[in-house]
Amino acid sequence: MRAASIEYDLLVAGGGPAGTCAAIAAARQGLSTILVDENGCFGGMATAGLVNPFTPYWQWRPDGRLDKGAPSNAGIFAEILSQLEAHGALAEDGVTFNEEALKLVLDRLVAGSGATPLLHARVIDANVGVCGAGKTVMAWIATKSGLQGIRARYFIDATGDGDLASAAGLPFEQGRPGDGKTQPMTLSFRLGGVDASAFPSHIDPGKFQNNYAVGEMDARYLAMKKLGRIVRNPRDDLVALGHMLEGVMHFNSTRIPNLSGVDAEDLTAAELEGREQVHELHRFLKEAMPGFAGSTLLMTGSRVGVRETRRLKGAYALHEDDVLGAKKFPDGIARGTWHVELHDPDGPGTRVERIPPDDYYTIPYRCLYAPGFQNVLVAGRSISSTRAANSSSRVMPICASLGQAAGLAAALAAADGIPVEQVDTERLRKLIRESGGLC
Ligand SMILES: Cc1cc2nc3c(=O)[nH]c(=O)nc-3n(C[C@H](O)[C@H](O)[C@H](O)COP(=O)(O)OP(=O)(O)OC[C@H]3O[C@@H](n4cnc5c(N)ncnc54)[C@H](O)[C@@H]3O)c2cc1C
Repeated sequence: MRAASIEYDLLVAGGGPAGTCAAIAAARQGLSTILVDENGCFGGMATAGLVNPFTPYWQWRPDGRLDKGAPSNAGIFAEILSQLEAHGALAEDGVTFNEEALKLVLDRLVAGSGATPLLHARVIDANVGVCGAGKTVMAWIATKSGLQGIRARYFIDATGDGDLASAAGLPFEQGRPGDGKTQPMTLSFRLGGVDASAFPSHIDPGKFQNNYAVGEMDARYLAMKKLGRIVRNPRDDLVALGHMLEGVMHFNSTRIPNLSGVDAEDLTAAELEGREQVHELHRFLKEAMPGFAGSTLLMTGSRVGVRETRRLKGAYALHEDDVLGAKKFPDGIARGTWHVELHDPDGPGTRVERIPPDDYYTIPYRCLYAPGFQNVLVAGRSISSTRAANSSSRVMPICASLGQAAGLAAALAAADGIPVEQVDTERLRKLIRESGGLC
């Protein structure tokens, strides 16, 4: 065990869409920043989780199509998109991307911001100061070099699971009232060698998403379930998305219910079950679906996809009425246009409710901190929100915007040496806009 003497202005735990944007934003404002992730790359679910595509980051039109002239997420997220485009790694739809290129894009953006990257490093605990109640002083990181203590003036928890903030004592809730169950996990996978021209139904290219599994394909899936040929996967539909290359298809169609994303044994069980479901689905596709007979399993995510774990009990909890009513808050720091999309913890169904067309909701800064906790912000999936609201705000473009806002808020707090809850939200909103963001 060894405690490092290094002290940073800011430690960001978790380098997914939220954490990378938080670290980049803060470092560009001059904060000495360390970005810590347990994976070997940044990007979180977008890279290691093989989650693709980005949900649309524009407003919806009344006819259900996208208004690409009206973006809802910009700033560093837009920089990431343009870097992907420069690598030929963003599809024409503007949402499907190549995750290998994304890894490099994020490495370079983090390095260019001046933030210090630390990979293969898991935050496992936090120390709270003896004289300053509610003040976190150090995070404990498990690395190949041993256990390291890293001190910082401010902390952003972007682990998606609230790992750092819960260790620091911030209050969280989890799952459905009553039984605490969360949305099921999913192991994403990708097939190559698919002959899409043989499919019984075809996509409408003007529509998000480019899901081929409509009509005949979904009907065959359900028929195979009835016949007992698909027994492991409780999901009642198939999600089969086109990807960057011809003949390559992306599936986030497995469904692993009744397990917790913050329990080591459950996560292990989820990985094993996910792989069984992948192979079961691939067998079905090869046997029963035209176009898949010669297909090959190219890859699965290097980690199972977790939709829901801890949610901060912050100064305000974003509510589904705020999302579905397209509410604008005076301290709004990020926008969202994604639907409420709540996957049933018990198995088959998914509740989908759209936000009003030609509109967006905002997320207040108060969802990012808990009163009394002076120097910790939470960004990304685990912000303070009801389950239904969270099922909208958790998507990658919105998490990126939340991360950027958190990084800028940390910079303002650090400049004045004040607790995060005292940040002037008018100044914060101005800084977000000046940094290219929307709020
Ligand atoms: C199956 C599935 C399908 C989805 N589909 C879509 C979709 O189509 N489009 C879309 O936009 N969104 C989708 N989402 C949602 C989205 O991927 C996530 O909610 C989003 O990535 C959350 O961003 P984040 O930065 O908060 O967390 P994450 O992306 O989860 O990143 C968290 C990072 O923190 C790291 N970390 C975690 N704990 C620790 C720790 N203790 N110490 C150090 N590092 C840690 C992880 O390694 C990871 O890199 C999907 C999610 C799932 C699971």
